[in-house]
Amino acid sequence: MELKDLKEKARNFIDERDWRKFQTAKDLAEDISVEANELLELFLWNDGKELDKKAREDKEFLQKIKNETADVFFGCLAMADHLDFDLEEAFLSKMSQLEKRYKVEEVKGKSVKIDEEQWLKKNKF
Ligand SMILES: [Mg+2]
Repeated sequence: MELKDLKEKARNFIDERDWRKFQTAKDLAEDISVEANELLELFLWNDGKELDKKAREDKEFLQKIKNETADVFFGCLAMADHLDFDLEEAFLSKMSQLEKRYKVEEVKGKSVKIDEEQWLKKNKF
């Protein structure tokens, strides 16, 4: 299934339930954030490396991670549908920008955070 088909599936789910009338871009952004935090809650107050091991060994825990990740993805698809933009193009455009901002030869093996706004100003995008 292609991304456009997944977007259509999300659209149909929303329209069959007549939920579009409750959705604005703000609502969908809130939904994405809430679902991302439900994903984060699965890891709260635990050691990251131990949880990586648990996710590989505990099918029920992995299923919870998969469910919350899918909830975030659903929100992204709904947002792209609501504002009628191409999520694949947006993703590829963002990846292109990230590849320029985080050049392999400058960041390989390093944990770095380059502020997006400052980088954009400096690089005049
Ligand atoms: Mg959820």
